[in-house]
Amino acid sequence: MRTVVITGGVGGARFIRGLQSHLGEGPIAGGAEQITAIVNVADDMWMNGLRITPDLDSIMYALAGANDEERGWGRRGETERVSAELVAYGLGHSWFTLGDLDLGTHIARTDLLRQGIPLSDVVARLCARWGLGARLLPATDSEVETHVHTTDGEVLHFQEWWVRYRATRPAERFEYRGSDVATPAPGVAQAIREADRVILAPSNPVVSVGAVLAIDGIAQALRETSARVVGISPIIGGRAVRGMADACLATIGVAAEAGSVGLHYGARLAGGLIDAWLIDTVDASALPELQRAGIAASAVPLWMTDLELSCQLAADALRA
Ligand code: GDP
Ligand code: CA
Repeated sequence: MRTVVITGGVGGARFIRGLQSHLGEGPIAGGAEQITAIVNVADDMWMNGLRITPDLDSIMYALAGANDEERGWGRRGETERVSAELVAYGLGHSWFTLGDLDLGTHIARTDLLRQGIPLSDVVARLCARWGLGARLLPATDSEVETHVHTTDGEVLHFQEWWVRYRATRPAERFEYRGSDVATPAPGVAQAIREADRVILAPSNPVVSVGAVLAIDGIAQALRETSARVVGISPIIGGRAVRGMADACLATIGVAAEAGSVGLHYGARLAGGLIDAWLIDTVDASALPELQRAGIAASAVPLWMTDLELSCQLAADALRA
């Protein structure tokens, strides 16, 4: 079976690990089960001359088992000696940490990109080292970067708004800069069209999944695939589980409620993007409205606090 997951970073990574555990270790090696992750790139940026791709790295490190579980991002056993040197030269950023091991990845990536290799091939090269049991595809090979237009008239790169200001500066709108000329990376539209099932991970609906869907052709492929498209709510009990997704939803005028996010994606049979939507049991009161809208909604536990729970959620998603 070919399973495609459309995803951002950490929320999606937890889900994909659960999916792998549910389908059996090393699905790609086994051949029968294939997982393709289509990953957001709009958090990417240039920093100190290096191309940083946070969501791709979150997934790569998590599937490799090399991630820092406690901190929730980056590499386990990380040090920050290089970063401290950059700060000493006045070139560092106090609000964005570049770990030493992580910098190794960024240097390797930037080296390959500068040789003219497209991002999707670079990602394949970097992932080959780890043997992830899943194929990672950037949504696009083009540079698409989310910018935030604040209500006080400033335009910030998404990372600055998110990491430096913790999404506290009211945003008027998000701009997926570059998405108007971007095309899906090789294999992306085909993976969606030929999938047996497609899952929208419990990732940020605006700046992760939304930024993937902003690339011309991807939403269309979702509407056209014969696969069932199942989404999982990143909102539980009216709150983003981790992170500040509620601030992003407010900006696009969607309530931070599991039901509202499902309705925002919309039923495929009414021109939307999903066939089924999983909400947490605490949000079960939203089921009738979702079902009336033509979405096969069900309420199951959505917390992925350990691998067993992520695995159970993956099983529920495949059943949906
Ligand atoms: P990022 O790119 O690293 O911010 O990660 P994603 O966009 O993939 O995921 C962020 C979203 O994951 C947040 O909006 C959270 O609400 C959601 N999330 C994180 N942990 C969980 C969880 O255990 N369960 C569910 N349902 N959602 C989660
Ligand atoms: Ca992200």
